[in-house]
Amino acid sequence: MKPDVPPVTKTLSFEQALSAVETRLTAPGISPVIEIVPISQASGRVLAEDVGADRDYPPFNRSTRDGFAVRSPDVQHPKAVLTVDGEVRAGEHFAAEIAPGHCVAIMTGAPLPAGTDAVVMVEHTRTQDDKVEIEKPATSFENVVRKGSEAQAGQRILPKGRRIRAGEIGLLASVGKANVAVSVRPRVAIISTGDEVVPIDRRPEWYQVRNSNSAMLAAVVTAAGANPWEMGIGPDSKEALQSLIETALDADMLLLSGGVSMGKYDYVEDALADLGAEFYFRSVAIRPGKPLVFGRVQGRFFFGLPGNPVSGFVTCTLFARPAMGALMGSAFERPSFLRARLAKSVHHRTGLTTFMPARIENRNTEPVVRLVGWQGSGDLVGVAEANGFLVIHPEQPSPAAGDWVDVMPMTS
Ligand code: AMP
Ligand code: MG
Repeated sequence: MKPDVPPVTKTLSFEQALSAVETRLTAPGISPVIEIVPISQASGRVLAEDVGADRDYPPFNRSTRDGFAVRSPDVQHPKAVLTVDGEVRAGEHFAAEIAPGHCVAIMTGAPLPAGTDAVVMVEHTRTQDDKVEIEKPATSFENVVRKGSEAQAGQRILPKGRRIRAGEIGLLASVGKANVAVSVRPRVAIISTGDEVVPIDRRPEWYQVRNSNSAMLAAVVTAAGANPWEMGIGPDSKEALQSLIETALDADMLLLSGGVSMGKYDYVEDALADLGAEFYFRSVAIRPGKPLVFGRVQGRFFFGLPGNPVSGFVTCTLFARPAMGALMGSAFERPSFLRARLAKSVHHRTGLTTFMPARIENRNTEPVVRLVGWQGSGDLVGVAEANGFLVIHPEQPSPAAGDWVDVMPMTS
């Protein structure tokens, strides 16, 4: 332990650490700056206003079939014969009310004429001249989406804080919101540290490694809807790191990679401490990634992520990603676990929550998870082959082949 860093608080469990991040990021006073953008630019952003329905949805009783709009009491007995008054297509409306014994040919998407309450599919009818024989009885509102059944005028259809995806964009467009209030993308500074780390466009010496973490973390930041600010590589020196971090304080959040272990040249925490940082946790019982630092320095949240590429990726995904969402005003997006059957038994008596790169695939209608080339926490080849992680909990450290286990699909 280095003297100027506050004493290490106890190692938190995965859940405790996640809750600590959630508590800090959802505390009062954390509110995003708002801007108005066209919906073409809203994908992945977080909605900053409640959006209401401008009218009923659907706005009229809408046919879901091509067929005949009928009065359902007219077609309760088989082989009812009705008079066809005309036709109504999508984009039109039929002006007159339909009397008993009458009907109208109707197309999918068209409004039901007044008087009618059901649609008989064209497949169940036989037409002759202006008459149609209905071969199958219809119940009221069969093949009809009722006016206002999806949403009623004035009803809130999207809450502030909702992450905007394709479905939300469709809904916004349908209610005429061509422009929408969203939170401004926070700027997230990324500093990789390590004297052995060189820029990716430089040929490394045999004892050096390329800075893969900055680009990878930037991809996670982008996927979270925030703006990455790659600040390059900081050396293993407290003073140099401090001046880089001071520059990074222009950002809304800081991601620091490497230099948070107990090594002699791990200076990230010292540099932060000297800048007045508050540390919320400094160790989490997860693997990969046990050294994981979360705190706040001069009003900015920061994560000190392990330098190992897989550890950095996992911890950034688990903790920093929902934190970025929360900065944007989103509900805290906890990593979601699904279930799959384990292909081959795993032994992990570590007392840690373990995340192992894995492929989740459907075999014989069941999701099956198998580990991919796991060569330790530097194995990006394995990560690239994976589409998710096998999650091993301390309570179930040695699941057997065929057991249902938790998996976490990759989202960036
Ligand atoms: P550290 O957390 O600083 O002890 O680094 C742990 C391991 O991750 C070491 O093998 C580093 O060489 C490697 N590493 C650290 N930073 C990076 C980076 N930016 N890109 C790729 N590998 C890194
Ligand atoms: Mg290092």
